[in-house]
Amino acid sequence: MDDVVDPATGEVIAEVAHCDTADMNLAIAAAERSFSSWRELLPRRRGAILRSWASLMLDHSEELAILVTSEQGKPIDEARYEIAYGAGFLEWFAAEGERAYGETIPSHKPGSLLQVRMHPIGVAAAITPWNFPVAMITRKAGAALAAGCPVIVKPAPETPLSALALARLAEEAGIPRGVFQVLIGDPVELSLPLLRDTRIRAVSFTGSTQVGRMLLEGAAQTVKKISLELGGHAPFIVFDDVEIDRVVKGAIAAKFATSGQDCLAANRIYVQRRVYHAFVEAFAEAMARLKVGHGLEPATQIGPMTKASVADKCRTHIDDAVAKGARAISRSQDPGLSPSFVVPTLLTDVTDDMLIAAEETFGPVAAVLPFDSEAEVVTRANATEMGLAGYVYTDNLRRALRLSEQLEYGMLGVNTASFTGPPIPFGGWKQSGLGREGSRHGMEDYMELKYVCFGDLTA
Ligand code: NAD
Repeated sequence: MDDVVDPATGEVIAEVAHCDTADMNLAIAAAERSFSSWRELLPRRRGAILRSWASLMLDHSEELAILVTSEQGKPIDEARYEIAYGAGFLEWFAAEGERAYGETIPSHKPGSLLQVRMHPIGVAAAITPWNFPVAMITRKAGAALAAGCPVIVKPAPETPLSALALARLAEEAGIPRGVFQVLIGDPVELSLPLLRDTRIRAVSFTGSTQVGRMLLEGAAQTVKKISLELGGHAPFIVFDDVEIDRVVKGAIAAKFATSGQDCLAANRIYVQRRVYHAFVEAFAEAMARLKVGHGLEPATQIGPMTKASVADKCRTHIDDAVAKGARAISRSQDPGLSPSFVVPTLLTDVTDDMLIAAEETFGPVAAVLPFDSEAEVVTRANATEMGLAGYVYTDNLRRALRLSEQLEYGMLGVNTASFTGPPIPFGGWKQSGLGREGSRHGMEDYMELKYVCFGDLTA
């Protein structure tokens, strides 16, 4: 058995069964057996089952939210939002499954008909992270199941309870045995068969770029389709033509959602020099009001870091920046809180040679960097191997259009910090990933194209 721990207190809150390679092999065999009957169901029927699953999630929203907060640590309101967000992917793909159209191609050969059809790829695997323990499962599984593929989920060991609760509701919704399975255990041991077994045709992963790279290499052995949603290092660019209060609201949302443990988190806040001091003052004031505490306390806005390694990385980034000349603004740590909590910290006068300017922090540490010109900030914002998301605040329409062309990111928010949801293609450029989740593109990772040429049709 493995312990599940409340990251806010370190207390063991549950024990879960530990699966090994033999269990994974059984799961792969069961998934493979279930494939033909699941694939043959009409998309409408699969959609109806996915919709029932989504309604059950919403019916049990409060219990699920409490589970999420208890094992992940996020504030309960954010956990409630995650349940609705997660159920939304099931609803979205329930409908998309009916729209997996093929094509008819105008023929280049006399007397022939050319068709392209979409086929489910086979058994899929989802390796999911701990920061969105519900929504990252439904975003992958909803797409796979709607496409006609059984799916095996390996959740993060830190957050197994949410995944197991989803599995229970999936069964209640009528998803047949073998079609949706969750296995908890050692990440390396359970991932190896998923990568090596030829019966697994697609792997979808969300997590760090480092692990994503290893999975990409592993998938090469069996030439599997792999989709990766990896780290971010989002620039949040503030021009001097905008109203500061509105930007501060956006910056707080973009930096501190999920207590900063979010791949969309604003990691480099670039502020044009003329409004730099006004922004820093207003942002520091707004940060000082953020309530830190246990996620189950209703007023909490910042919970603990789910993993000790994330809290350590935050402290390393703060120490490095201060040693190189940045100013840190924060309050002292509440002695009643465990070391898994990181006090929201503002780093001003950050320069490009500091660690925080070079890599994702994944915690409640905000780095503010002054800039002078538009060309300069575009160059600095793009000077990274990450390319997931970026934000631009300006009231100058032509400038907004220019930056939306020039920034090398898979997703951009222009004058907004809130842009995710089932209809959008979520994913990154460069080393932030491969493939897109959600949207009408989300099922592509779980489907194969088949081209058929009907020849000799002339009577
Ligand atoms: P991670 O990449 O180690 O974990 C993510 C998932 O991968 C989990 O399911 C984990 O069990 C699994 N995993 C870990 N090592 C594995 C391996 N060798 N083989 C197969 N699966 C493996 O991420 P982490 O250490 O928990 O977090 C570290 C950093 O990753 C964060 O600071 C952040 O930068 C990034 N991260 C990004 C996201 C995201 O939403 N893109 C989510 C979580 C973490």
